[in-house]
Order: sequence, then structure tokens, then C-alpha cells
Amino acid sequence: ASKKTHILTTTLSSAAPDGLESVVINLDHGDPTMYEEFWKQKGEETTVVTSSWQHISYFSDVNNVCWFLEPGLVSAITALHRTVGNAVTEGRHIVVGTGSSQLYQAALYALSPVDGPGPMNVVSAAPFYSSYPLMTDYLKSELHKWAGDAYKFNKEEPYIELVTSPNNPDGFTRQDVVKGDKGILIHDLAYYWPQYTPILSPADYDIMLFTVSKSTGHAGSRIGWAVVKDREIAKKMTTFIEINTIGVSKESQIRAAKILQAVSDGCIHHNRKEAETNFFDYSYKLMAERWKRIREAVNKTTLFSLPSFPQETCSFSGRTFGQLPAFAWLKCEGEIDDCESFLRRHKVITRSGKHFGASMKYVRVSMLSRESEFKLLTERLPAIKT
Ligand code: PMP
Repeated sequence: ASKKTHILTTTLSSAAPDGLESVVINLDHGDPTMYEEFWKQKGEETTVVTSSWQHISYFSDVNNVCWFLEPGLVSAITALHRTVGNAVTEGRHIVVGTGSSQLYQAALYALSPVDGPGPMNVVSAAPFYSSYPLMTDYLKSELHKWAGDAYKFNKEEPYIELVTSPNNPDGFTRQDVVKGDKGILIHDLAYYWPQYTPILSPADYDIMLFTVSKSTGHAGSRIGWAVVKDREIAKKMTTFIEINTIGVSKESQIRAAKILQAVSDGCIHHNRKEAETNFFDYSYKLMAERWKRIREAVNKTTLFSLPSFPQETCSFSGRTFGQLPAFAWLKCEGEIDDCESFLRRHKVITRSGKHFGASMKYVRVSMLSRESEFKLLTERLPAIKT
């Protein structure tokens, strides 16, 4: 465990004295530090100051199903979805969570019947987000259990299917895959934003999960939101959060509201140079540039390959492009069967395909690091020899 902790906390600041080749590049987590530079130049505009007498109450709006949800955050979320055109929010209930991770668990709680014959099956098509099995089973609940790859699920039993689109880890657009009629869907749309994928139409599913972690990059604020059609489900999700944490930090909600509002205002008012005001313009250009660079690096060697994506036109930006995922789903070609260990020997820390229900020939590599780490990655990959 101590070795693992060491690796996870190793950063560029702990660079070994004998040159850049020995620097550990940790791209295991999808920590969105890439966006720091954009937010630095925003300065005061997105600064939030709170006084000690403010936000003392547990409550935000007792008339709302989600009574701990700050009204300012509701306005900012709905304004942003309207501006981007990526989700329908009219007539929907919004539930705020401590990250979308808490909302995932709240949704499982809300959708699993208390008096069912056994725990509800929870599935997602492989490769699936590695946290789903962990979050589903870590409390050994009698309400739900992880039932693995949705492509392989063939029981005549009720199930919840997680649809992650664009998908973590591989970036592809997805639809539900189980053919049964006893399923309930949760759509995890953490990456359905115009820097990662062309927006095709406003998503209009029963339960949709979003997060500031991946939209604006403020993972540390731990704010996610669910857009829910059914009032009873929104109520049960709220009850879960009430029992779990009695609500969600007001400071975080207010900070998220300020930032989300600044993003939608910046999309509308192009009064200065575009990239400075329009977050999605900036982040799209950065993602496009990084994908160009990583593809160039991978093309210089026969050891690795990357997925390719179809081009589509984004209704938000008008640009035609293929996905620019937050992670590179890198495959080790040829003889290398354990890509994670292979890259670890070259001091690149990634997450093995096995955590995503996939082959160990694959690894997930974060594309959202700071420039210094990303640059090292693009230099190191082509230099690696078997
Ligand atoms: N869903 C997906 C698909 C994710 O990739 C992540 C973050 N890695 C989450 C949910 C959790 O995000 P949050 O920080 O909002 O808990």
C-alpha cells in the first residue's frame, strides 16, 4: 500500500536529479488540472467571497424537492444547458450531489426496490468506468449488486444499466445495449460537453448525471447534478443524500454556480478575444491540440495504437470533428500483454484495461493533466523500446 501511495502522490515537483527520463508521469486519475490556466486569467470575475454569517442553515429552498439545492445553482445549470444545447431541463427536477459520484449512489438507491426478491443487478457495457463496480458493491448492499458487462447480461431479472456517453475510458458515444425489457437506465453524461464531443441534440433521458469535475474542471469542489424526469425518483435521490450527508456544501454550490454562470455568459458575450471569454472554445482548442500531439507521438512507434472516431457536426460550435476524449484508450500492440506494467517500467502510470472489464492490452491515460506532464508523455511514448 505504501508503494501505491507513493506512486499516486509522485508529481513533477519530485523530479529525480538524473534527468527527465526518470520523472514519474502519473496519468492514472482524470484530474482536470489542464483547465487551471484558463481559470487563472479569469481572476476576480469568478472569485467567490463568503462571510461567516452566510450559509449557516442546512436548508436552501424548502419548496424544492431537493431542499438543499441553492437556487443560484439551479439558474446557472439550466442557463448552461440551454446555451450548450446538451440537455433538456424544462419541467425536470435537479438534484445536487457531492460530485456525480454521490448521485450515482443516490440513483441506485432510488431505483432499487426495497422489497425486491434479491439485490438489483447493475450493469454497464465494457469497457465501463472503473468506479461503477466499486461504488455499487463497497457497502455490500442488499439493494443492488454489480452484475458486470451489459453485453453479457442475459438474466430474466430486473436491472439498472449505466450508459456513459461519451464513454469513460474509451471516448465512444453510447446507447443502452441490454435487450431485455426489465431495465432502468441511468445516463452518465459527465463528458457530454463540446470540448470532448460534437453536441448532436439536447439529451432527454429519465436520469442524467453531470459534474463540474469534467465540464469546467472544478473536481475539487465536488459538485455534480442529476436531471431527473420523475418527481418520486428525484425525491428518493434527495432522501439518499439527506441520510448520507444531510445535503451538499453551500460554499461549493455557490462557487459552482458562479463558475457555470461565467461559462454560459462567456459563450454568449464574445466581446473580447474569443478564447479568453469562451471556455468551450478554449477547452476545445486545447483538447484538439493535445489529441493531435498524442496521435503524432503514437504514430512514431509501432508499439501502441489509439481508437479513431467518426466526424460529426457540433450544434453548439458548428465545428465538424471526431471525439476528443478526456482519456486516451491506448492499446499495446504485438507481444506486450500487460500494457500497464509495461508503461510503469517506463515510469508512465496509467490504469489497466482490467479495471474497466477489458483486456490488459489496454490502458487508460488521462488527457487532462498540466502541460508539463502531457509534454513529457508525448516525448516519452515514441522513445519507448521493447
Ligand atoms: N462519471 C464518470 C463517467 C466519470 O469519469 C467521473 C469522474 N472520473 C465521474 C462520474 C465522477 O465525477 P465526480 O467528480 O463528479 O464525482
